[in-house]
Amino acid sequence: MQFKGLHEKTLVIVKPDAVQRGLVGDIVTRFEKKGLKIVGMKMMRLDEAVLREHYSHIADKPFFPGVSNFMQHSPVVVLCLEGLEVVEAIRLITGITKARNAEAGSIRGDLAMSVACNVIHASDTVENAKSEVRRFFADEELFDYSKSEYEFVYIQDERESNR
Ligand code: ADP
Repeated sequence: MQFKGLHEKTLVIVKPDAVQRGLVGDIVTRFEKKGLKIVGMKMMRLDEAVLREHYSHIADKPFFPGVSNFMQHSPVVVLCLEGLEVVEAIRLITGITKARNAEAGSIRGDLAMSVACNVIHASDTVENAKSEVRRFFADEELFDYSKSEYEFVYIQDERESNR
């Protein structure tokens, strides 16, 4: 599985609040309009074990049980998105954790008010993105295909970049 240059990948989880509030389409559309390639997408339920692993950096916080309950409330939609420096690009359009303070125009800034119900998760580093994509997607659930619009999303140097 490639993670370099145009093939950099990141993981997004559309959280239960977004599923309940009918925001899945809006959120996916934002990624599509940005020029990102969807290479994996599915609905699933998260259990305590996967949440403990995924949120190991907050597992000892007093708010973790609440986060875990919230994330198990409904199914979520997980996406693997691909593009040049996609991890950074998606963190920018995600906005900060506390959604009511997130920048206008960002997904959290436009669509949420809470520090917990903040509509999406997005990988924060390339290293974490690699393990998170592997955590949620089997190889056969990720698709390698060419996207004709790339000619107008990137210039040639960017398309050939192998950073
Ligand atoms: P982010 O999702 O912005 O990368 P973190 O990794 O710090 O943020 O936290 C993971 C998730 O835990 C957040 O998206 C949010 O749903 C929840 N969370 C973070 N901080 C709090 C808090 N103070 N109270 C309740 N839930 C929180």
